[in-house]
Amino acid sequence: MNYWSAVALIDGVPNASTRITTGGNGRIATVEVGTPPAPGDIRMGVVLPGMGNAHSHSFHRALRGRTHSDGGDFWAWRTSMYEVAGRLDPDRYYDLALSVFHEMLLSGWTAVGEFHYVHHRPDGKPYDRRHAMELALAHAAQEAGIRLTLLDALYLTGGINRPLSTEQLRFSDGSVHRWLERWYDLRDALGGLSAVTLGAAVHSVRAVPPPDIAVAASSVPPDVPLHIHLSEQVQENQECEATFGTTPTQLLADLGVLAPRLSLVHATHLTERDIGLIGDSGAVVVLCPTTEADLGDGIGPARALADAGARLALGSDQNAVIDPFLEARGLEAGERLASRRRGRFSPAELTGALTVGGYSSLGHAPPAGLAPGGFCDLVEIDAQSIRTVGALHDQLPLVATAADVLRVIVGGRIVADGGATPERDDPISPAARMARAIDAVVTGSSSERGGRE
Ligand SMILES: [Zn+2]
Repeated sequence: MNYWSAVALIDGVPNASTRITTGGNGRIATVEVGTPPAPGDIRMGVVLPGMGNAHSHSFHRALRGRTHSDGGDFWAWRTSMYEVAGRLDPDRYYDLALSVFHEMLLSGWTAVGEFHYVHHRPDGKPYDRRHAMELALAHAAQEAGIRLTLLDALYLTGGINRPLSTEQLRFSDGSVHRWLERWYDLRDALGGLSAVTLGAAVHSVRAVPPPDIAVAASSVPPDVPLHIHLSEQVQENQECEATFGTTPTQLLADLGVLAPRLSLVHATHLTERDIGLIGDSGAVVVLCPTTEADLGDGIGPARALADAGARLALGSDQNAVIDPFLEARGLEAGERLASRRRGRFSPAELTGALTVGGYSSLGHAPPAGLAPGGFCDLVEIDAQSIRTVGALHDQLPLVATAADVLRVIVGGRIVADGGATPERDDPISPAARMARAIDAVVTGSSSERGGRE
């Protein structure tokens, strides 16, 4: 399939009359600017490159709109989240992930990194079917048509030097060596799924002792993306400093883990020295502005990190909001509120974080964006809606919302179109399917079902 767009944003710059041809492998063959459409081209309006959601926990979507009267802080919210986690089983996990991946595609996220730690039965014992929970996510992504990087997380302790709580038992493999054994076996099990890449994650310095962080990082292949939650909460920093005499960032640096393949999620509460270490390492920082605002985490030093050399990406994290444009706007809004200055990130920088930054964090090697050899992942936005009309094309990412997303293309194939997922012959709407999936985990009892084949 070949595409022609009236305006394509290439590296954040509008280019009129752009023709994008695809090879048989779902990648872009050529990009020609200033050329008329050829017969048979699919004609589109304003087109962005695909956007990579670098941090998601899909099942948190079940909490959306249900926790706002509870007050409290991150830790109180986590108690509610653990209740939902306790009711997941492979079928419910699949159903919820499928609906969330549809919502992401309909909103313009074409790739996602699912930071996955609900590995086993609620009592911590493995499911009879190996990798039942991981395969639920992988099959959901394959069915939806989103590009998935499955970030399989190592999770061993309930806090620094603390045992796992009952709710956390199912997150743990018991040791880094058993996690590695499962990770390599999972890599083989995912072999036939073209939409899925296996990545790795260390949950946080709260959940993995330092020697095991080092073993995990050195034992997965060097081209595999590695993600970790970092300094989202002040309490995490205080406990790390009290126990190890150093910040979480310095701890990772001392372990030799800070590197370009590492994505640091949140990085909210950092020292000047931390910012320098991250910048020098070339790591990616994944900001999750709608989540960080929703949970009252704080505002991270995003501009300072970018100035120091860090690459930036964005993520929907707890999925209280699924809208790439609102993440970009949240990043810039936090900077403006904290600095009392406008234009802290240019529109091109924000678009770059959504596109090239996200894909880089998810382990997709260059070229990225609208370039020959890159994935043919495209997002068409409506520049004539009541929300967007009148805006300059390069500023549309600061104006549009997910409601302005028209056609979404992944691997050269249309996977969403104006609020619908066109290739499904299922008569149930995406919203009705989501309602059913949420109801099962919010009101359902804990379940011991074994998962789909
Ligand atoms: Zn997270």
